[in-house]
Amino acid sequence: SLSVAGVLGESARHFPDRIAVVEGGTRLTYGELWTEALRCAAGLREAGVKPGDRLAVLLPNTIEFLRVYYGALAAGATVVPVHALLVADEVRYVLEHSGAVGVVSGGPLWAVADEAARAAGVRAFQGAPPAREPLAAAEPAEPSETAVILYTSGTTGRPKGALLTHLNIVMNASVTSQDLLGLGTGDVVLGCLPLFHSYGQTCAMNGTLRQGATLVLMPRFSGPAALQVLADEGVTVFMGVPTMYHALVEAAAGSDVRPAALRAAVSGGAALPVAVLERFEETFHTQVLEGYGLTETSPVATFNQPHLGRRPGTVGHPVWGVEVGVADAAVDRRVLLLADGEVGEVVVRGHNVFAGYLDDPEATAAAVVDGWFRTGDLGVRDEDGFLRIVDRKKDLVIRGGFNIYPREVEEVLVRHPSVSEVAVIGVPDEAKGEEVCAVVVRREGAAPLSAEELVDWSRERLGRHKYPRLVRFVEELPLGPTGKVLKRALV
Ligand code: ATP
Repeated sequence: SLSVAGVLGESARHFPDRIAVVEGGTRLTYGELWTEALRCAAGLREAGVKPGDRLAVLLPNTIEFLRVYYGALAAGATVVPVHALLVADEVRYVLEHSGAVGVVSGGPLWAVADEAARAAGVRAFQGAPPAREPLAAAEPAEPSETAVILYTSGTTGRPKGALLTHLNIVMNASVTSQDLLGLGTGDVVLGCLPLFHSYGQTCAMNGTLRQGATLVLMPRFSGPAALQVLADEGVTVFMGVPTMYHALVEAAAGSDVRPAALRAAVSGGAALPVAVLERFEETFHTQVLEGYGLTETSPVATFNQPHLGRRPGTVGHPVWGVEVGVADAAVDRRVLLLADGEVGEVVVRGHNVFAGYLDDPEATAAAVVDGWFRTGDLGVRDEDGFLRIVDRKKDLVIRGGFNIYPREVEEVLVRHPSVSEVAVIGVPDEAKGEEVCAVVVRREGAAPLSAEELVDWSRERLGRHKYPRLVRFVEELPLGPTGKVLKRALV
């Protein structure tokens, strides 16, 4: 049957002896990984976990994560992956809100999981509970049933539990791995994206295993370490977020190590500055394909698809079976689609749209209108159908009545030779309502840079209403788990 456990189960049937996953010196074949998952499923059953129960998983990017994820699904449970950076009280919230019967954790995350489980009054398992015999077969699932509940990171408010069905995840993993990347059993994919997040979970983990390719895990990302793993493991496909691209380019500048087998690179999760894309392509001689999506869209909605052409600075076209529109952002109750060339709210319809927020009909009704999911992102489609993400609706800066899209300003500033990274935000201003402020990380080893100099430089390249008049230098930008700049923490 079409199910998320089946992603691994079917590949284990077709390619039992191929390597499914690599973690440091450990390599497991598909046959071994599936047997371990079924053993975990049996252990969970013996510990009292029933089909339909929800089970939280708080684990780093390890083989254990895969074992428990597929094991819980095979046992018929719904998986609630928990964000690895949450503190105990936040984990307690997720456990209580999701109604989880328990949490499986271990390693460095165990203390947090244990404390949260005690507070919520549910069980905490240190690793998958042992079982004598593996479960004979995975519990069947309907495509429309919820497979996974993913909590949004909450940078836009209280975390909400997005219900993702088996169909959502399997379709999205298939589309990414087959249509967009043409993954095969000879491919090796680097999985340094967090597996508790939809991008890592659907594209890196499920997409790779769906095709019988090999997933290389890296529990902790750093540019130099990733560069070495890319080369040593013969990685053919890299999937990352923009900050990882940035880190890889920086690491390559001081090293001769080059990944010889790399044939494709995927970016998503946040806007990839064109300057970073260009540097990556020059350094690694591999095309970067940028995609766009959200947790609520499983996540991939659009992609620069090899067969439809590629346009850097855009997020490409809708993926197979998915419609994307640009709607009037001021109209709430219905979706009023705009013409190409007009900026509006990006809306998505299709098999990738989630089943709603857990126990939150109001938020669901506000987010899904006439079958369209309102993303909260502003975008515009060009004459060839390429979608450009202009910015998040809530990041818009309004200065003296003019709408300013921080992303456009960031794209310009990041081209300054002494700028390494930049985030543009609006700060309250008596006269203008908001003033444009650039928060800048200087480039190491480059010519020194003063605020005044950068303001002058910006004025020559950006309109009078939008060049940043304020500059703040910082050592580093506050980042979320997927490398997204947490703008709220900057204001
Ligand atoms: P929250 O949305 O609550 O802050 P989050 O950032 O973890 O949490 P995700 O679902 O991972 O939630 O993020 C989706 C958002 O990431 C999109 O709404 C969009 O703003 C941004 N995004 C993803 N891909 C791109 C891209 N290629 N270009 C620009 N923005 C992107």
